[in-house]
Amino acid sequence: MTNCIFCKIAAGQIPTKKIYEDEDLIAFHDINPAAPVHFLVVPKMHIPTLADCDENHAALLSKMMLLAPKLAQEQGCGYTTNGNGNGAGGFKTLFNTGPDGGQEVYHLHLHVIGGPKPWRGQR
Ligand code: AMP
Ligand code: ZN
Repeated sequence: MTNCIFCKIAAGQIPTKKIYEDEDLIAFHDINPAAPVHFLVVPKMHIPTLADCDENHAALLSKMMLLAPKLAQEQGCGYTTNGNGNGAGGFKTLFNTGPDGGQEVYHLHLHVIGGPKPWRGQR
């Protein structure tokens, strides 16, 4: 997609605060963070929305979701447990889809939002 901002970021044509990149995905800090930690996990492939995904995208979606907690850990908002059912830290994961879902950029992305409260509920 020639006029897609996340395609341009994936192609290195627009600078971002990148935190991860491999052959399929890129992750970078959100330019307008809703919390102390707010980054986006983005496939390099242009897919407009989650509703455009099918079985062919299962591996890619899985890769995005499995990457989220690893990067959250690196960014200081990982979820930890002590083995007694007591957890600490953590983050929210969010796909916005379509106008009623609050989607602004029509290139699939997973928001990862965390850090100390009181940011909760802003998105
Ligand atoms: P959504 O509403 O789910 O489409 O979210 C799009 C997100 O992309 C918003 O949180 C924006 O702040 C973020 N965003 C837009 N442009 C950029 C950019 N150039 N670099 C980083 N984040 C961006
Ligand atoms: Zn795109």
